[in-house]
Amino acid sequence: MQVTIQEASRLLREKKISSVELTKDYLERIRQVESKVRALVTVTDEPALEQARKADELIASGKAGALTGVPIVIKDNMCTRGIKTTCSSKMLENFVPPYDASVVEKVNAQGMVTVGKTNLDEFAMGSSTENSALFVTRNPWDVSRVPGGSSGGSAVAVVVGEAVCALGSDTGGSIRQPAGFCSVVGLKPTYGRVSRYGLVAFASSLDQIGPLTQDVTDCALLFNAIAGHDKRDSTSVPEPVPDYTKCLKTDLKGMRLGVPKEYYVEGMQPEVTAAMKSALGKLEELGAELEETSLPSTPYALAVYYIIAPSEASANLARYDGVKYGYSYAGDSMWESMEKTRGNGFGPEVKRRIMLGTYALSAGYYDAWYVKAQKVRTLIRREFDAAFEKYDALITPTSPTVPFKIGEKTDDPLAMYLSDVCTLPINIAGVPGISVPAGFADGLPIGMQIIGRHFGEETLLRVAYAFEQATDWHKRKAGI
Ligand code: GLN
Repeated sequence: MQVTIQEASRLLREKKISSVELTKDYLERIRQVESKVRALVTVTDEPALEQARKADELIASGKAGALTGVPIVIKDNMCTRGIKTTCSSKMLENFVPPYDASVVEKVNAQGMVTVGKTNLDEFAMGSSTENSALFVTRNPWDVSRVPGGSSGGSAVAVVVGEAVCALGSDTGGSIRQPAGFCSVVGLKPTYGRVSRYGLVAFASSLDQIGPLTQDVTDCALLFNAIAGHDKRDSTSVPEPVPDYTKCLKTDLKGMRLGVPKEYYVEGMQPEVTAAMKSALGKLEELGAELEETSLPSTPYALAVYYIIAPSEASANLARYDGVKYGYSYAGDSMWESMEKTRGNGFGPEVKRRIMLGTYALSAGYYDAWYVKAQKVRTLIRREFDAAFEKYDALITPTSPTVPFKIGEKTDDPLAMYLSDVCTLPINIAGVPGISVPAGFADGLPIGMQIIGRHFGEETLLRVAYAFEQATDWHKRKAGI
C-alpha cells in the first residue's frame, strides 16, 4: 500500500488498518525495492514496530493527531537516540547518539513511526548522493541516474514508497534539488523556523531541516509538526507557528509573482526552459500576475556559498579528532592519531571543503575571502528583501538540468557545484523555498522552485498547492 499522510491518517482513524499493519507493509516494500535504489543506511524494523504498537494505543484512546502511526524516514545526519547516525561517513559509521534531535523528538511526540535512516552525501556535502562513503543511491525514474543530493535517500524513499514522508536538510539545495530530481515536494523553511538541535552541523548559518512529501498538503502537515522555537537552538526564532494547512487554496487571484531573469540562464537545458514556460502559463491561468524581475547579484551566489559553507564546515568538522567520538586511529603520537583519524575518516569532498574553508579563514586571506563573501551575502539578502516588497513570491526552476548520469560529474567538482545555482541564493538570504513537481522530459522529472519572504511559508504553500491541484505531475509514479 502506498498512501499519503492524509490517506494514512484517515485509514488509521477509521480503523481500516492499524499502524502495525501499515508499518509492516512499508517494511515489506523496503525489502522489495531497496536493492534497486539503495536509499536507506539503516532499516529500523524492531523499534518501528514498537512505535507502531504505541501509535495504535494512541489511536484507540482517541488522542491521535494527523501524523500518528504514519511511517517516516529521517536523513542520517539527524540524531536518533539508540539508532546509528552515520552522516554517510566512515567517521561516524558506528556512532550511536545518546539523544534525539529536536525534530526527531517532535515527530516521535506525534506518534510517527521511523522505519529508517536515509543515505546522503557525506556530511551533506554534494548534489548527487554519490559522495556517500557507504554506497550510491539511484534515481527510481532511471536507475543509471543520480537522485540529486544531499538528501537523495530521503527523496527516493518517498517516491518509491519506502515511507510515507521524510525529513531532509538543506544547506544550499539539499532538500529542493533531490525533490526536483525525484518528483516529490521538498520545503526548505526560513532559517530559524525549525530547530537545528541534533542536526549534525555542516554550515550552521545555512542549514535548515524540512519535509519531503508526496504532495503539498502532506508537506504542510509535516511542517506543522517540526516548526517552532526551541531554546536549545539559539538561532531558532520564537515566532508563533500557524496551521500551515489553512493557507491551501486553489486559486492565485491577486498574487504578484516575480520571475527573476538571472535564474533562466544560458546553460539551462531546453527541456527545463520549456517546462518552466508552461508552468508560468499555468500560474497565470490560476489568476496570478507575473512579471519579469531582476536580482542582479545572483551570479555571485555560487562563489559566496563556496566560501561561507566550507569556512563554517572547516570549523564544525574540527570536532572529529578521534578523541571524543566517532572513528579513531590509535597512532604512536597524538599528531599521528589525529592525522590518520581525519585522513582515513573523511572522504575526498569533505577534505576539499575543509581545505577550502581553512584557507578562506586563515590570517591574511580572511578579509579578502571570508569578509568579502559576507558583504556580498548582505547584498544578496537585500535584493531579496527589495523583491518581496513588490512580489508575494518568486518563481524559478529548481535545477538547471534534469537528473544526470551517475559518474557524469564526479570528476569535476565545479560542474557538480553548478547544479545548485538556483537553490544556493535562497540559503544565503535565509528565505524559504519549496520545490514542486512541474514536468518531465523523456521520463525524467523537472522541479519548479517557489521562493518567499522570511516566514512567508504560508504564501509558498498556497502557490505550490494551487499549482499542484491544477497539474498532474505529482500523481505520476516511478515504475519500480
Ligand atoms: N550541493 C550543495 C553542497 O554541496 C548543497 C548541499 C546541501 O544543501 N547540504 O554544498
